Amino acid sequence: MLPKVYFVIPCYNEEEMLPYTIEKMLQKFDDLLKKGLISENSRIIFVDDGSKDKTWQLIKEATKDIKFVGVKLSRNCGHQNALMAGMSYALKFCDCAITLDADLQDDINVIDEFIKKFEEGYDVVYGVRSSRKTDTFFKRFTAQSFYKLMRAFGVEIVYNHADYRLLSKKALEFLMQFEERNLFLRGIIPLIGLKSTIVYYERQERIAGKTKYPLKKMLSFAFEGITSFSVKPIKYITFAGFLMFLLSIAILIYAIVQKIRGQAIAGWTSLTISIWFIGGLQLVALGLIGEYIGKIYKEVKRRPLYLIEEIAKDEHE
Ligand code: UDP
Ligand code: MG
Repeated sequence: MLPKVYFVIPCYNEEEMLPYTIEKMLQKFDDLLKKGLISENSRIIFVDDGSKDKTWQLIKEATKDIKFVGVKLSRNCGHQNALMAGMSYALKFCDCAITLDADLQDDINVIDEFIKKFEEGYDVVYGVRSSRKTDTFFKRFTAQSFYKLMRAFGVEIVYNHADYRLLSKKALEFLMQFEERNLFLRGIIPLIGLKSTIVYYERQERIAGKTKYPLKKMLSFAFEGITSFSVKPIKYITFAGFLMFLLSIAILIYAIVQKIRGQAIAGWTSLTISIWFIGGLQLVALGLIGEYIGKIYKEVKRRPLYLIEEIAKDEHE
């Protein structure tokens, strides 16, 4: 029996990209069918993440072909949540799901290999970039620092792996049991365990449309990632606070000794510096703790990750 493979593609304002993506995916789909790698009942799911342009019209148009399914979220819920929406839909029907971006920056030619690994019995196949040639120096540097930081904080994360991966039905079922609101899939997937492997590929440049991850969003995503998976930053802050405390005692003793020896320091400089320094440190600590409390706040509210407004497909189940 050939596997029913569901492709999950989140789209946010991708009208410029979609016609190309639809055509390429269709070609790939037929190619995989011909090679006998996927069953005819496989599907390509486009998740419209609350786009403001013509993305949904284009998706709907595409679903006249039975191979495509459109899932429309009621508003922009973010890339990770859109992926979740697509995967939980796929879970109902598929044997495995492959997630990829709408801009097809991730080389779709390695899908063959993904599926072969799945057939060999792997539940999780990570697409990993073999190089970062197409990235700017800045992106490369920040990305590397991010992975290093995550590792330093004790988070198991696959280097240079984004959200291009295959998950078996079982892996999807496991994933759905993680009920966190602060989704960072790259951190969660390694936690589900199961047999996993890596497939290398070369990432292309985006050929149309703009990146939906400008610097600000990228940084906040990285910060989310760290604070969702590790409480070590709080520990470091506590440690830093302790060090500061010891240091201030040393300074105190020094100041008293100087006073006794009649060499009182004209203390204005040291006073101002320490006030500002400690004040700053406290603010950082407070902010960081606030960040975690914010996370807890978000978790306890248990708001839905996404709301599906409409499903478009050319069949009735
Ligand atoms: N995306 C989404 N919701 C968002 C932002 C992005 O569904 O709020 C989708 C986007 O359409 C694309 C994928 O997530 O399919 C990755 O975004 P992009 O290619 O802009 O990111 P980059 O490759 O630059 O990191
Ligand atoms: Mg991209």
